[in-house]
Amino acid sequence: MTQMITVEPKLMGNIARAVNPLGCQAMVAADIEYVKAQGEFAGPKKALILGGSSSYGLASRIVAAFGSGADTIGVSWERGPKDPSMLGTAGWYNNIYFRQFAEAAGLVAKNFLGDAFSDEMKQQVITYIKEEFGGQVDLVVYSLASPKRTDSAGTVWSSALKPIGRAVTGRNINLETETLVETTVEAATDEEIEGTIKVMGGEDWELWIEALLAADVLAPGAKTVLYSYIGPAMMDDFYRGGTLGKAKEHAEETAKKLDALLAQKVNGQAVVCVSKAVTTKASAVIPTLPLYCCALYRVMEEKGTHETPIMHKDRFLRTMLYGDAPHYDPEGRLRPDSWELDPETQERVSELVAQITPENITSDLTAYDTFRAEFLALNGFVDGVPATFDYDEIAALRP
Ligand code: NAD
Repeated sequence: MTQMITVEPKLMGNIARAVNPLGCQAMVAADIEYVKAQGEFAGPKKALILGGSSSYGLASRIVAAFGSGADTIGVSWERGPKDPSMLGTAGWYNNIYFRQFAEAAGLVAKNFLGDAFSDEMKQQVITYIKEEFGGQVDLVVYSLASPKRTDSAGTVWSSALKPIGRAVTGRNINLETETLVETTVEAATDEEIEGTIKVMGGEDWELWIEALLAADVLAPGAKTVLYSYIGPAMMDDFYRGGTLGKAKEHAEETAKKLDALLAQKVNGQAVVCVSKAVTTKASAVIPTLPLYCCALYRVMEEKGTHETPIMHKDRFLRTMLYGDAPHYDPEGRLRPDSWELDPETQERVSELVAQITPENITSDLTAYDTFRAEFLALNGFVDGVPATFDYDEIAALRP
């Protein structure tokens, strides 16, 4: 029996509420082709990607698999289809199509769906590594972005996207209404700062690495990386100087501790990679970031330095983490974001942002079209890809 349905983009503010599985398949395929076209490199062979179903985590998984021939484990929190009007999340389909492509290429690709913050998930993954994945992993990518975390004691922590110390008014783009909006975000409370550090800081990363070490499933020379962000002065209130910045500072301190531990235990490495601002589910809801991205992408497109997550993570893994051109800053962080923070780029971005008005917000003054197209593509809405398919076929897909 067939049950043909047609999907179309549905936005609620800057959150996408519909998915086109065929577009997710096409995007995963295109990312794989991008990596294959860059050639092979000597990188990881057994990689664990925490948050591997979308954007930076998925890109890292694709690069590890199709650039370096790695078997991969992906852990993510995604929903499958319930009925033709509730098709689940894009990450659900990304996981499935990635696995299918990887298996067709002769690689192992195991998907775990569930809460990466939980002790149960850590144990399930460890058991799988021991019993079915060859016993050890040599790369752990920590790429979780979440609004909540339940810790081992059962306490539920919430993260906030807020400035610290004072309320801040900022301009942003509303992708649903395609308008410029001005919003005031109140200063975070102490509890909100603490909660954001608990969810997006380094505590759970440390718990993962300790659990993997205790179970002896980290290979000699194993590396682990967490993705951070710094950004320009105009993002300071909402990012580095705000709640998320506090969490990233915590993660960066954790990296130093984990680096020493891994060096001692397995001759390994823990490092933070300060990454570029890209269009993702998580970044679209950070106040001001979409507006900044529209200006940034215009300048970086003109300079030939604009990158999508796959391009950024390919360059990072190939030339920095496993390459001979690592760019470390004095804090010991790897800095592929140097293209974004290039002073000339930032000067031109500031000039552009100052020119944005409600009237020209969707014009080609900025790269609004690129941002919007990349945002829609995250949920599989891609020009030229059919949006009509058999629901029963989609519902039969298994992780
Ligand atoms: P994303 O929303 O696209 O992906 C988040 C991933 O985390 C998904 O795979 C999701 O399923 C998974 N996840 C969330 N909660 C989970 C849970 N409880 N258990 C298991 N999996 C869970 O986010 P992203 O933008 O790719 O961000 C990834 C990391 O990169 C974050 O640490 C973010 O701060 C960092 N970063 C992002 C940007 C950017 O511009 N997007 C820039 C620099 C750094």
